[in-house]
Amino acid sequence: MHLRKAARVILVGAPGVGKGTQSERLLQRFPQLAAISSGDLLRSNVKNRTPLGIKVESTMKAGGLVPDDLILRLIQNELSQRGWLHTKPNFLTLCSSDLHQPDMSSDDDAFISSAHLVQPQPKADPSASFLLDGFPRTARQAENLDNLLPINLAVSLHTPVDVILERISGRWVHEPSGRVYNTGFNAPKVPGLDDITGEPLVRRADDQEEVYRERFRKFEETSRPLLDHYANKGVLWEVSGMCSDDITPKLFAEFEKRFC
Ligand code: AMP
Repeated sequence: MHLRKAARVILVGAPGVGKGTQSERLLQRFPQLAAISSGDLLRSNVKNRTPLGIKVESTMKAGGLVPDDLILRLIQNELSQRGWLHTKPNFLTLCSSDLHQPDMSSDDDAFISSAHLVQPQPKADPSASFLLDGFPRTARQAENLDNLLPINLAVSLHTPVDVILERISGRWVHEPSGRVYNTGFNAPKVPGLDDITGEPLVRRADDQEEVYRERFRKFEETSRPLLDHYANKGVLWEVSGMCSDDITPKLFAEFEKRFC
């Protein structure tokens, strides 16, 4: 389906709510959309041993949040490279290797005021449509992103926590390939073994109920200010369902209403 207006969207939802599934379905349905994942961008910097990657590696390993100035710069660079931000050349079209420059890397305010200085403009063209995954994660990141490129739809996905827990209690993973099975609706042909290699499947450590409940609690705590930020801007839309198939048609309908 064709977008007539630029869709600048974030999906917010607890771990296990199915953000990945909804993203994939949206990308299929609306081919003009592109997905940008802050986690993927960071992991690729770590893998390629860029100055940024080296700087953030230990924080990521410990499960902490990467400092706002670094993550904002990374996202801004990505948006500029895709041609979605009109900025002055040679100034904000930074590559991650610029991040070691002492005058810019550690001073958040210097970075943020520089963003105001050049006043990047969002492209209204529907080809500049994207789904952000993992960013912004805090209200402060959201405010800074608004100065660059305002989000025009923040989707908050809800599924009751006990339903998510039931779903992840059936989840088994083939670690070497990342293939995921679920004994409830996508069981392996032979219980406990990968369909392709026949190797054993394992449970993920963070799928344990206690670990999951702690992640869920943290998500609730940090997402509230983020959702309040978008509610105040008038772009928050909340959707609930017991499973991904419940949510997808509502999401498609909302997209079509707003952007098609
Ligand atoms: P994810 O794949 O979204 O779970 O991200 C993996 C890791 O990257 C997180 O645990 C954080 O350390 C870091 N990260 C990703 N996005 C952000 C963000 N918006 N702000 C700060 N750190 C982030």
